[in-house]
Amino acid sequence: MKQQLTEEKVFKDPVHHYIYVQDQTIWDLINTKEFQRLRRIRQLGTSYLTFHGAEHSRFSHSLGVYEITRKIISQFERNGYPDWPAEERLVSLCAALLHDVGHGPFSHSLEEVFDTDHEEWTCKIILEHSEINHVLRAVSEDFPAQVAAVIQKTYPKPIVVSLISSQMDADRMDYLLRDAYYTGVNYGTFDLERILRVLRPYKGQIVVKESGMHAVEHYLMSRYQMYWQIYFHPVTRSSEIILRQIFRRAQELYVGGYKFDWMPSPLQCLLHNNMTVHDYLKLDEALVQTAFTQWAEEQDPLLSDLCDRFLNRHLYKYITIDNPDEQLLNEISDCFSSIGMNPDYHMEIDFPFDLPYDVYRPDKKEGEKKEKAPILLLDSQDEISEISAKSDIVRSITGLHQGQYHLYYPEEPLKKNSSQIPDSLKKLFKLD
Ligand code: ZN
Repeated sequence: MKQQLTEEKVFKDPVHHYIYVQDQTIWDLINTKEFQRLRRIRQLGTSYLTFHGAEHSRFSHSLGVYEITRKIISQFERNGYPDWPAEERLVSLCAALLHDVGHGPFSHSLEEVFDTDHEEWTCKIILEHSEINHVLRAVSEDFPAQVAAVIQKTYPKPIVVSLISSQMDADRMDYLLRDAYYTGVNYGTFDLERILRVLRPYKGQIVVKESGMHAVEHYLMSRYQMYWQIYFHPVTRSSEIILRQIFRRAQELYVGGYKFDWMPSPLQCLLHNNMTVHDYLKLDEALVQTAFTQWAEEQDPLLSDLCDRFLNRHLYKYITIDNPDEQLLNEISDCFSSIGMNPDYHMEIDFPFDLPYDVYRPDKKEGEKKEKAPILLLDSQDEISEISAKSDIVRSITGLHQGQYHLYYPEEPLKKNSSQIPDSLKKLFKLD
């Protein structure tokens, strides 16, 4: 098979200006139906309900991760660094492009309800019968397994894994810049060009030339700001809670034999927890949102109310609770029940550290399975040190645990029945 395209292809991209494709395999992968499906999955899930610009897709992010990886590798090749294994170029680019191909609609929320894992789906799509698998097998019979191993972080060369999965990988660099662009905030910007210039392959890993330390500090500060301002935003959390509750309720009804007026088969498989790759690939956000429009008309008042809230953005309000002890939570639960609310659904305690994000931790924590390679600086004497040993700024945000408990609830029934609510709770819920 011809490996290089006769003419380079380009995609116009608001973050990287242009994305360049030179390999036939990459071009063929982009044109598979599994990759095209990513156009119908938003990168930031429900964040568009908080930041209305956040409509960008996993398709654009995946192309972006590919482009950053391509730039890093070309820089290594241009400079002729002997520590970069040249034969790993294509496997690295394919893994970068495909790393999120298993994401479903509103991934993180659905994964919590149905206990699925997008990385497992990514590997199934790559390894099982699919157009992607077909394109990869044209390279060599074991090529799909190699690409999957990079994504699962079991590939024998850690330098390849670290391109798409480390504390400063192509994945994070793209999503920070892209999410900042589409949400319209300025926190996420940093000097990508500068960072790409100071990366070096060195003894089987990727390191940063010490003179690039300040550019890396800027990247880590941006990441810190983005987590608190965008990813942990309490309004986004409220919409995620409602989304999870819709699926929890739908599953409860489905298992209990409730007859839905509208239930397409891919959603039925999801609620039944028995999905094949073929079913899974039919799930996208258009289908989920159509379901919500239909379910808003269902007989079950709880399901219909939750769908209506999600579609029309009547989200739950929240209060901050310093110490959510059992006594207080019981008191709230009893009060909610007494005015006809359902505490199983209408009160939810949330703490943002349940999210799969960390700001920056140089070391692995006890029991943690997925370690991300730390950021290493290389000085002029060829000595290596972890960045927090050299940078005061990085040290000051490392492992910083900020965060508050929030209690989410629908405000309308409380307001309507405020005369029946004890004074202490009235104060807590600011009902005076
Ligand atoms: Zn990604």
